[in-house]
Amino acid sequence: MARDPDCLFCGIAAGDIPSKQAHGDDTVVAFHDISPRAPTHILVIPREHIRSAADLTDEHAPLVGHLFAVAAAIARDQGIADAGYRIVTNIGRGAGQTVDHLHLHLMGGRPMTWP
Ligand code: AMP
Ligand code: ZN
Repeated sequence: MARDPDCLFCGIAAGDIPSKQAHGDDTVVAFHDISPRAPTHILVIPREHIRSAADLTDEHAPLVGHLFAVAAAIARDQGIADAGYRIVTNIGRGAGQTVDHLHLHLMGGRPMTWP
């Protein structure tokens, strides 16, 4: 699995950097955001170092499907699915991306406004 030695989220996926993990399997890891913007705020990431959604190709289709399936399963586990939740992925600095490893923000537990 391609790993960037300088990448924070690669380090978390490998277990070298501590996190409060919510899910882990062969290809996808999820952990609680260190600075939560909602009562539930979990990051869902591929183990593979992909810089952002802008770098996805058709070959990533199974991985991306699994990424969203994991997010939906966590939302059910966390009890936020019925009320509704938000999945966001930021691409580039202007959109607020600060960590250059693809991640879904799974947020819920409060009403959401639109940007
Ligand atoms: P973004 O700004 O979209 O790139 O999202 C990066 C997210 O990573 C932010 O919401 C940060 O709070 C979160 N974050 C940064 N460092 C850590 C960490 N060590 N553990 C968990 N979440 C982190
Ligand atoms: Zn990475």
